[in-house]
Amino acid sequence: MRAHLNHALITDLERSLGTANLLAWVEKKCSRLATLGLSKDGSVRFTKPLLEAAGIAEVVVTGQINGCSCITSRGEGDSFRISVRPFSTKQDKRFWIAHEIAHTFWYQKGTAGLPLSNLQARYGDDRTIEWLCNRAAAALLVPAFLLESPQHSSLNRLRRGEIHLIEKCASELDVPPRLLARRLWHDVMQQEKLVLAFEASDGGPHPEGTACVRWAAVPETAGGGTTRLKFERKSVPLESLPRLPQALSDDVTLSGQWRAFLSDCLSKRRATPFRRCADSGRVMARAGRLDSRLFLEIEVSALGL
Ligand SMILES: [Zn+2]
Repeated sequence: MRAHLNHALITDLERSLGTANLLAWVEKKCSRLATLGLSKDGSVRFTKPLLEAAGIAEVVVTGQINGCSCITSRGEGDSFRISVRPFSTKQDKRFWIAHEIAHTFWYQKGTAGLPLSNLQARYGDDRTIEWLCNRAAAALLVPAFLLESPQHSSLNRLRRGEIHLIEKCASELDVPPRLLARRLWHDVMQQEKLVLAFEASDGGPHPEGTACVRWAAVPETAGGGTTRLKFERKSVPLESLPRLPQALSDDVTLSGQWRAFLSDCLSKRRATPFRRCADSGRVMARAGRLDSRLFLEIEVSALGL
C-alpha cells in the first residue's frame, strides 16, 4: 500500500469487511460484479444484474453536477443513483460510472450512505477512498479473470510484451488505454514502468516532423496522477522515435536525450523541450508500433532518478 494512503482507515475497512487484504478483497468483489456484466465480446457492461448487485437503481447523465460524477442515495430502501456529466469519450464515462459503483463498497449494507468506517472523510474528500475507487474501477472494467483468460488472445499477447496491442486491447475492453496500462503494469504486474503513446503530428499545435504524447501512464511512486499531465501533448522529433516495422514490438535502445527528457518530465522542474536535452547515457526500452501510434515502455529506475 502506498505511503500517501490512510493506513488506519485501510485497517479499519479490512476489519469491517472481515478481510486481511483489502486489495485482494477489491479484486474478488470486482470480479464477481464483472461476471454479471460480461458481454460476448469480452468487455464488461453495466447491465441491470451488475448494477442491482451493487445497489444502483439508476445511472443518469446530467450537466447539472459540479465535478466529474457523484453517487446519491435515492432514499428508497438502500439503493443509489449515479450521476455523471457528459464526457468527451464513452470510455471516460465508463471509468467514472465504475468509480462511483466502487463508492458503494465503503457504505454499510442496507443503510444507503452510512460509512463502513468512522475514519472515512466526507464523500469526495477522502484521498484513500478515492484511490481505492480508482483502483476498483479498473478492476471492475478489466477484471482479473479476463487478464488470465486464454480466450482473450490479444490481452495475453500484450502481457507477453507485444506492447503495440495496447490500444487495440483497450478498445476491445472499451476502456481508456491509460487505464489498461496502469492496470496491467502498475496494479497487476507491479512494475515501476512508464508507458507512453506517441502519435505523429497531424499539423495542429505541433510542427511537422514531430510526434506528440497522446497519453502517459506514470507509476504512482514517480508522481502518478499529476506528473502524467506533464507528459501529455509534449512533442519529440520524429527521428528520435525508434524505427519499427508495422504491428511489431521489440526491445530498443534510445539515445541519451530520452533519459534527460523523461527524467525532466518526472521531476518537479519545468521540463526542457526534447531538442534541447543533453545526450547522457543510452536507455533501454520496449517499443511497439501500430498504424500511426508508437508505444514506449521504460523502467523508471533506468532513468537514474
Ligand atoms: Zn470518488
